[in-house]
Amino acid sequence: MSSSDNPAGLIAELDGIDGLEAEVGVPLSGYATFRIGGPADCVVRVHNQSALEALLSVTGRLELPFEIVGLGSNVLFPDEGLPGVVAQLAGDLASFRFQGTRVTAGGGMTLARLAKQSAAQGLQGLEALAGFPSTVGGAVFMNAGSYGVEIKDVLVEATVLERDGRVRQLSPEQLEPSYRQTNLRGTGAIVVSATFQLQDGNAEKALQRIEELNRRRWASLPSGRPNAGSIFRNPEGDYAGRLIEACGLKGACCGDAQISPEHANVIVNNGRARADEVLELMLQARRAVEERFGVQLVPEVQLLGPLRERWRSALGRGETGPR
Ligand SMILES: Cc1cc2nc3c(=O)[nH]c(=O)nc-3n(C[C@H](O)[C@H](O)[C@H](O)COP(=O)(O)OP(=O)(O)OC[C@H]3O[C@@H](n4cnc5c(N)ncnc54)[C@H](O)[C@@H]3O)c2cc1C
Repeated sequence: MSSSDNPAGLIAELDGIDGLEAEVGVPLSGYATFRIGGPADCVVRVHNQSALEALLSVTGRLELPFEIVGLGSNVLFPDEGLPGVVAQLAGDLASFRFQGTRVTAGGGMTLARLAKQSAAQGLQGLEALAGFPSTVGGAVFMNAGSYGVEIKDVLVEATVLERDGRVRQLSPEQLEPSYRQTNLRGTGAIVVSATFQLQDGNAEKALQRIEELNRRRWASLPSGRPNAGSIFRNPEGDYAGRLIEACGLKGACCGDAQISPEHANVIVNNGRARADEVLELMLQARRAVEERFGVQLVPEVQLLGPLRERWRSALGRGETGPR
């Protein structure tokens, strides 16, 4: 069964599960900072772990595609939308609690809010990670980082729910974190919660540091236009933005998608940009940089649904892309 064949049937199945809120045909543009994406068959907000386990069991039994989304700040959804279920963690799965100098937060908790709450308690360690849109789960999955700090540096343990229903506690080493990735990529495992080790510090200073770093960050990013942060990972020892700019592509447009005139590794949505237009600009940048510098840029943004295959086939060499 596909959920588009029988959305009412799927909703009826999900209605029986406590802690789920499901909606059909919801435009995914509302779930991505890019503001791009057609409708999902079904978007489900999941409020606790047992509801998440039950949801996975239903989607597994019905063989429905399943994607998890955080704040949607590093994803490109396809124009035609996504079949199956797109889930977002909420409620208990977006809460947090302190235990001494440790904090445990649900995968759906906003990282910036967690950093501010920790700083306000006089606990420091998350300040450098407060300046970009992310959930705790998305950041652990991506091994997000900024200003020299990666989330693995403060992570004690992540609790993940595997697609087969197994729950595992993973240390940072077990996640094999590297630049903007972990070994969760491609496994379908969901980060349900994560525990971070913080240090005793001064609340006022920690809050000031967050403000100061945020000011620096927003001064360096394209203002006002929807985007998904860095489109490509930086190649070893260089910057994707420098290479794209050197190819003369800063400001290049495809429809309403544009390589930002302010930062060449960011694509902005100037109004009604389509995912296919963003993909076209990504391909132009990738080809130009390879031709001129022999460097193959790798997407940092997660291409979802058929976009992954379109990227691979446009490059024509079985490249796996971001996931
Ligand atoms: C303006 C801007 C600035 C940015 N700056 C930075 C930066 O400085 N450093 C940086 O690292 N990133 C940056 N990013 C990218 C992005 O914010 C990070 O990658 C962020 O961690 C993504 O988190 P998210 O919750 O939005 O995940 P999403 O974008 O929703 O999802 C990203 C991937 O994570 C997966 N995922 C989400 N939640 C979970 C979960 N609970 N369990 C398992 N997988 C999950 C999704 O399936 C998807 O594959 C920036 C983005 C923007 C728009």
